[in-house]
Amino acid sequence: MNTLLIKNVLHEGRKTNILVKGGRFEAFDVVADTQADKIYEADGLAILPALYNTHNHAAMTMLRGLGEDKPLQNWLQEDIWPYEERMTVQDIRRGSELAISEMASSGTVFFSDMYFDIEETIDVVAKSGIRAAIGITFLDGHSKTQQNEKLDLLRHWTDPTGGRICLTLCPHAIYTAGSEMYKKVFKLSEEYGVKMHTHLSETRKEVDDCLREHGTTPVRYLDSLGVLGPNVILAHCVHVDKEEWDILAERGVSVSHCPCSNMKLGSGRFPYELAIESGCRITLGTDGASSNNNLDLREEMKFAALLAKVAGNPTLLPVGELFRWATVNGAAAFGIDGGEIAAGKLADAVFLNMKKERLQPCHNLVSNWVYSADSSCVAATMCDGKFI
Ligand SMILES: [Zn+2]
Repeated sequence: MNTLLIKNVLHEGRKTNILVKGGRFEAFDVVADTQADKIYEADGLAILPALYNTHNHAAMTMLRGLGEDKPLQNWLQEDIWPYEERMTVQDIRRGSELAISEMASSGTVFFSDMYFDIEETIDVVAKSGIRAAIGITFLDGHSKTQQNEKLDLLRHWTDPTGGRICLTLCPHAIYTAGSEMYKKVFKLSEEYGVKMHTHLSETRKEVDDCLREHGTTPVRYLDSLGVLGPNVILAHCVHVDKEEWDILAERGVSVSHCPCSNMKLGSGRFPYELAIESGCRITLGTDGASSNNNLDLREEMKFAALLAKVAGNPTLLPVGELFRWATVNGAAAFGIDGGEIAAGKLADAVFLNMKKERLQPCHNLVSNWVYSADSSCVAATMCDGKFI
């Protein structure tokens, strides 16, 4: 089994040597002359858990900067959807490559994706060394042939990397996929043991339309269809009331909070107070680069904290809890045994260059990373015990 010795790395406030074996952290505080296939000299670097981006549309890096300053529905109809109609598989490939490069260089080892022509993205992910949950998107407008092609992908799926890539099933949103579609996709997700990932309660308009059409709010609507469970990840959940949060927590749903996208599109403030009180598992996502406009999950942590506190309570969302949203919670939502620098866990990590001004002085490394750093502080990102 492949072994890697990380030497002289700063971990929990002191220098140590860490042994990685077969893609997992094997042992801590090992002696400096421990035998290993490879040695990584990490003097001057600190190790922290890497970041898990739970909501993304990676190839949308190609649409970065397109159609600014519009509400979600106008932006989609006037700018995004017309552009996407003209995108080629080559655009999907280049967009995915650009996205993965950007994520890896800012400390992210995993992203949950929802887009089209996913074979291209899967191939890029496999070659890159990053982890991903690649979504098969379901929309009511798709033809029978298109739907069958999607199902073939699921039926014949084998992960080309032997563990870094999984498929998810993604009804796009309640305004693009009907109740029958949600029920069918949820049933498939259970049958194949995969996650279901969808957008929900992103804007006030979505809630109002849902009330008009179904006589209830989005979370209650999906719950009435019986499609909420521990294998479900909901992106956004901006307009969710207290009782709905309790439903989400009870069903074991994970939520992907995307603060930058929500703020930029004017979708509203995530109800941190209710979400945290409910005990629901919260994770962080960037959403696509077209509504962010980058894929730096560290920035997402900072924006989430500021957006939580701006309502007047500085004790809301302490830095340690916030860091868990971006690391261990994100990993857990997708069944990944990572997000912690601990023996037996998958060796996913970010190495920070402690010589950078923004990391000094270092009273609290996690706080420096969340509030002060930028991606230039990242010296290396490791996924599965290998450097991306
Ligand atoms: Zn999205």
